Amino acid sequence: MRTTRLPTASCPRCGYEMDSASGVNHNRKPKPGDFSLCLRCGQVLRFDDELVPVLALERELEELEPEQRALIRRAQRLIPTVWRDAERS
Ligand SMILES: [Zn+2]
Repeated sequence: MRTTRLPTASCPRCGYEMDSASGVNHNRKPKPGDFSLCLRCGQVLRFDDELVPVLALERELEELEPEQRALIRRAQRLIPTVWRDAERS
């Protein structure tokens, strides 16, 4: 898994600052239109033409292959549990 440094951007939902992206099942750099997830709140995001993360639309998610959508949903469920565990310890 390779992490790509990106210009700092805030999650449009929770304001969490992100400055990198990691591929989930690939090793290429993010490109415009790629989906991403906020690592704080699990919001599904999408990179715009300047690789700025914006809110992804439910409609866009529905256009994905079922496996890709399942991957995103699974990651989305996992993210809050990771933070809960981190805050407890
Ligand atoms: Zn967020």
